[in-house]
Amino acid sequence: MHRPALSVVIPCYNEAACLNLLHGRVSVAAEAAVGTDFEIVLINDGSRDDSWSVMQAIAARDGRVVAINLSRNHGHQLALTAGLDLCAGAQILIIDADLQDPPELLADMRATMAAAQADVVYAVRRKRQGETIFKRATAALFYRVLDRVTDTPIPLDTGDFRLMSRRALDAFLSLPEQARFIRGMVAWVGFRQVPFAYDRAERHAGETNYPFAKMVRLAFDAVTGFSTAPLRFASHAGLALTAASLLLLLYIAIGFFTGSAVQGWTSTMLVVVLLGAVQMFVLGMIGEYLGRLYIESKRRPLYLVADIAGPVRGHSTLGFNAAEPSPEFDQDGSASVTIDTPGVIGTRPIA
Ligand code: UDP
Ligand code: MG
Repeated sequence: MHRPALSVVIPCYNEAACLNLLHGRVSVAAEAAVGTDFEIVLINDGSRDDSWSVMQAIAARDGRVVAINLSRNHGHQLALTAGLDLCAGAQILIIDADLQDPPELLADMRATMAAAQADVVYAVRRKRQGETIFKRATAALFYRVLDRVTDTPIPLDTGDFRLMSRRALDAFLSLPEQARFIRGMVAWVGFRQVPFAYDRAERHAGETNYPFAKMVRLAFDAVTGFSTAPLRFASHAGLALTAASLLLLLYIAIGFFTGSAVQGWTSTMLVVVLLGAVQMFVLGMIGEYLGRLYIESKRRPLYLVADIAGPVRGHSTLGFNAAEPSPEFDQDGSASVTIDTPGVIGTRPIA
């Protein structure tokens, strides 16, 4: 198996209008950096537009492009996981399809990586153009709260745009969880990681696929994936409330013995409502962790591949490939599916 010098991994959801320009700009930047020895891994994450046919066309005319069609929309973090799992490069660049992260920064990021002898160069957003104040404010708040509650230092204002070494990526791929907050998981892996400041551009076309609800879900995955602080909060709140109720008990006892114990609808209601709210909140928090535990315990593959166009070089460890006719069986009898087996899939034979 040939390991290219560079893999550029790009998750795409409804990005048909960006793909051709993206392919052009990424190819030029990659060629300037490593010559012809690179691959571009495009992942179609169940797009509703014609992203997949555009990708197939690109893969048909450029042998350095691998297009992977997931069986449905798996979400950004899993689509990106699929691309990382199936790429083979010695260095890996993660980039968004909408050209908000300029591919031309690749040369500088590689220089930074070499100079610092780093395993990860993560791009920190200095400015964000064309994004609403609400999005910027919630994002800024999110990164700061996350920093407070997690035990892993996760860099502020950093998305998934980054350059990684093969050993950092292999370490990342050894993390099997379903609920993936990739920027946090890469930080958790460690090695030498250095920041790289840049200005985030506007979307080239289309609109954001990260509406508020998805951002909230990502935020919950981030917090629950990297911290048990909310669970600790439950025991701390319990302790504080116990202390408070002991004081209240004292007050009630005094009232009883001095014979002034009748009034008190307000205080009774207050205690009932407050305790009810705290209990529901804590229960919900435990539920968040329990739900994730349940999902993780199923050990489902993280993504399902429906079709492949172009030469896949990587070895799938986290997903399931339905593009192959049937899984191979290892000598110990366990089934394993590899994606780098030659076969006729998608638009043309795999080299
Ligand atoms: N994306 C994806 N699956 C999804 C949503 C988004 O693969 O379900 C991709 C999308 O095509 C883009 C990247 O993830 O390449 C980031 O999404 P987007 O630009 O919409 O997010 P934003 O930059 O607005 O945070
Ligand atoms: Mg974007």
